[in-house]
Amino acid sequence: MEVLVGQNKQRERDFLVASISQLPISNNFSPPGVARFRSDAGVSELQFSQVSGPNDSTHFDLRTAQLFKLSPFQSACISEASEMNKENSRGITIQFRNEEDSRAFHCAFDQWKKEAVFQGSHLPNGTVSTSKSKFDDKTEASSANMYFHYYGQLLHQQNMLQDYVRTGTYYAAVIENRADFAGRVVVDVGAGSGILSLFAAQAGAKHVYAVEASEMAEHARKLIAGNPLLSQRITVIKGKVEEIELPEKADVLISEPMGTLLVNERMLESYIISRDRFLNANGKMFPTVGRMHMAPFSDEYLYTEIANKALFWQQQNYYGVNLTPLHDTAFQGYFSQPVVDAFDPRLLVAPAMSHTIDFTSTKEEELYEIDIPLKFVASVGSRVHGLACWFDVLFNGSTIQRWLTTAPGAPTTHWYQMRCVLPQPIYVMPGQEITGQLHMISHKAQSYTLYLTLSAKNWGPGTEQGGILQTSSGKLDLKEPYYRMSQLPAYPLVQDQQPHQLLQTQDIQIQSQDEDGSDLMQ
Ligand code: SAH
Repeated sequence: MEVLVGQNKQRERDFLVASISQLPISNNFSPPGVARFRSDAGVSELQFSQVSGPNDSTHFDLRTAQLFKLSPFQSACISEASEMNKENSRGITIQFRNEEDSRAFHCAFDQWKKEAVFQGSHLPNGTVSTSKSKFDDKTEASSANMYFHYYGQLLHQQNMLQDYVRTGTYYAAVIENRADFAGRVVVDVGAGSGILSLFAAQAGAKHVYAVEASEMAEHARKLIAGNPLLSQRITVIKGKVEEIELPEKADVLISEPMGTLLVNERMLESYIISRDRFLNANGKMFPTVGRMHMAPFSDEYLYTEIANKALFWQQQNYYGVNLTPLHDTAFQGYFSQPVVDAFDPRLLVAPAMSHTIDFTSTKEEELYEIDIPLKFVASVGSRVHGLACWFDVLFNGSTIQRWLTTAPGAPTTHWYQMRCVLPQPIYVMPGQEITGQLHMISHKAQSYTLYLTLSAKNWGPGTEQGGILQTSSGKLDLKEPYYRMSQLPAYPLVQDQQPHQLLQTQDIQIQSQDEDGSDLMQ
């Protein structure tokens, strides 16, 4: 390796490497080559050429080029497809003469790239623009920082790993569908600890790219390196799926992008973006489909608990201060928090309906705003306090279809279930229709504002004229849930104030559950 530093505006640095070859890798002999970092009049590039042989060389713009370590001696350099040319990314693999050369080259790459990006970001008037990715465009920096800080901590990854319903279902879905993984290139979208990458490698994947944006990527590297039988076939890439490049297209995507109500955290969008960026046509997605399920519920106990929280603000003499001016605001505030806990399915007053998101075909933009018209038929007479929600996802493997469900009554997961409680309950009679709307609008803090309306025709005075419509509405922030799991009893079986007969578990059917003929597996 030799270093040549030029004068003034033109600078160069050369590395002699054992071989260079274009991606996809062929078995042809690749001759030794030179990798040259070059900066001329503010434009920095990396050139690859052969030491002897044809005089042509491959150039990479250092502002967009990315370098990945494939093994201690081998790396891949990839260029982002330009706006003009949206074809596959270009790439080259570099075989170094030794580990020392590889390390020095990576150091130089980082340094030159930093300078290139910095130069490129200087606008004529001296301001600095940051080149933003799709993720940055729609996410507040403070939200993203907290989000990746959270996932960078091992305790939160452990919490997910210890959800055996979740992790066990993923394991079964992968291992029972070996045929979908064996010999295939897999991308693990948001790899976290790397667990799903390891499962995919166990199922015989040819290579797994484990993409993780948080500091957890370092722990994943360590965990994977400690499983040497599998680690040869896994490359951890630290970065956001919206920003990184991969040396090849994938046959399979695996990911666990589900948040509360399926869509919280807005990671489904990253999963869809990964599909569009990395997956071959006809590639498989694990999971394949997600469904949100919704049903009206009655829970006098929960309603009273929430309403009572605001009672504090009804004090007229709090150290001589009248707190009541803030009572209404506090009342609305408590009802704006979706309640997350496990509830007894007998609290549901009507069979659930569902909204399906097909991950293989949904457009990312379709998740920015989701509008679900609601229509139920009450099975019991009751006061309806709001809408209960849960989700499931399908792994549509070639060998076996498996569902991961978070339904009430099924084994509890770390997602529990979610309930939107309305400030004003509505009364229904058995057989009565309940209509409404759940309108979800995404926001830049990686979540959604929920607008919920439920209506029922009143049976009483005025019925002759077609009935009086009772309507109740609420606005909730999915980002600010009230975690109620620690409170006992988790299954309040006796609802003192509930005069009506509770819906029996066996009466609850999820409409559309059998649309595709598949059962919920647990
Ligand atoms: N796959 C792991 C972790 C799932 S949690 C498991 O199943 O146990 C989701 C992970 O995705 C988090 O670690 C988070 O940091 C990561 N993540 C979220 N959005 C991402 C993005 N846009 N790019 C890369 N990683 C992302």
